[in-house]
Amino acid sequence: MVVKEIVSKTALTKSKLPVADYVVNAYTGCIHKCIYCYAEFMKRFTNHTEEWGEFIDIKVFDKINIPKNIENTSVLLSSVTDPYNHFEVKHKKTRQILENLLGTGCRVGILTKSKNVLQDIELFKQFNNIEVGVSLNTMDDHFRKLIEPKASSVEDRINVLKTLRENNIKTYLFMSPIFPYISDYKEIIERTKGFVDYYGFENLNLRAGYKYRVLNIIKEKYNHLYNSYIDIYQKKSSSFWNELEMEIIKYCKDNKIECKMWFYHEKIRKK
Ligand code: SF4
Repeated sequence: MVVKEIVSKTALTKSKLPVADYVVNAYTGCIHKCIYCYAEFMKRFTNHTEEWGEFIDIKVFDKINIPKNIENTSVLLSSVTDPYNHFEVKHKKTRQILENLLGTGCRVGILTKSKNVLQDIELFKQFNNIEVGVSLNTMDDHFRKLIEPKASSVEDRINVLKTLRENNIKTYLFMSPIFPYISDYKEIIERTKGFVDYYGFENLNLRAGYKYRVLNIIKEKYNHLYNSYIDIYQKKSSSFWNELEMEIIKYCKDNKIECKMWFYHEKIRKK
């Protein structure tokens, strides 16, 4: 694992994501090593030759400049790293930026796969407008280890949501990415609905280099599903996602569960 500290001038970056006006990534690289990680493209902006997940740059900020007119805008931590990866325990770079956002009136959204997020629970309580989300796409910890080997366990993530709710912090569960025929959205909702304010759903997109990495793992470990994955990702059949999307929306409506759909997110454009 290659660990470096780098001086960074910018803590908040304008975002084209539909969910945020600004994004914050206090680290470059991510040690969670999810097999489907789209953020691997960040390697292009570094001099790292190591594999994704084998390096991390810890950003050092002399001064954190908060953009003018940030009030009522949305800030997401994080988009291309996990803001509470293992290095945050010691280095507290995410925390440093959060401390600078306190009192600015922006809406803060946090998204993580790490139990370390609980270390900042007292800080979260000081915000008027904050929501903390956990990504979770399975209740099966064996599958979780296969696809997200270094992230927190399923039980730890459920505990994060429960603890946040007990402390009156708004929570969301980001069911992403949904793996066809493996992620069981009903099972996840049933286990967590008592302490989740709303659910977000995103389908598994497979692009570029990681497409074949994921398909090879499906072939090796879930061979009975391989042909179905080929239909979706090689033959581009959209019927699976169309039907699943409608099914989830109906299920949430019938059960009075708030949901936000982020299927086909490459087609979603900021208005
Ligand atoms: S936690 Fe997010 S950024 Fe980190 S490896 Fe997983 S998908 Fe990529």
